Amino acid sequence: MTYDPSNVFARILRREIPAQVLHEDEHCLAFRDVAPQAPLHFLVIPKRPLARLADAGGDDGAVLGHLLLTAAAVARQQGFGDAFRTVLNSGAGAGQTVFHLHVHVLAGRPLAWPPG
Ligand code: AMP
Repeated sequence: MTYDPSNVFARILRREIPAQVLHEDEHCLAFRDVAPQAPLHFLVIPKRPLARLADAGGDDGAVLGHLLLTAAAVARQQGFGDAFRTVLNSGAGAGQTVFHLHVHVLAGRPLAWPPG
């Protein structure tokens, strides 16, 4: 799908709206989810404009790997390195509501499986 630069995470990247940033480097930003679903709930987003995982291509592989490594590093830094869940919704039918690719990281409570 076409990337819409007016989405809320693009606005966070441009510092047009605030976020509780936990980590930033040249490829990604990690910040707390505004409506946390667990004691720890943050999002890791790439700085490059990718709407969905379904839109990623071959040259996105390194950045996608970096998002997961960052998810684990920030979870560890927050004291939840031993048990956390990553979730990446791709497409409205899968629950994606913000169309800038993001990895959810949740921890700090029992997490059931299968998810809803
Ligand atoms: P998804 O449904 O997978 O697209 O997840 C979008 C997530 O973004 C939800 O968990 C929202 O609570 C979160 N969210 C929406 N707006 C903001 C915001 N301004 N700052 C932080 N998180 C947000």
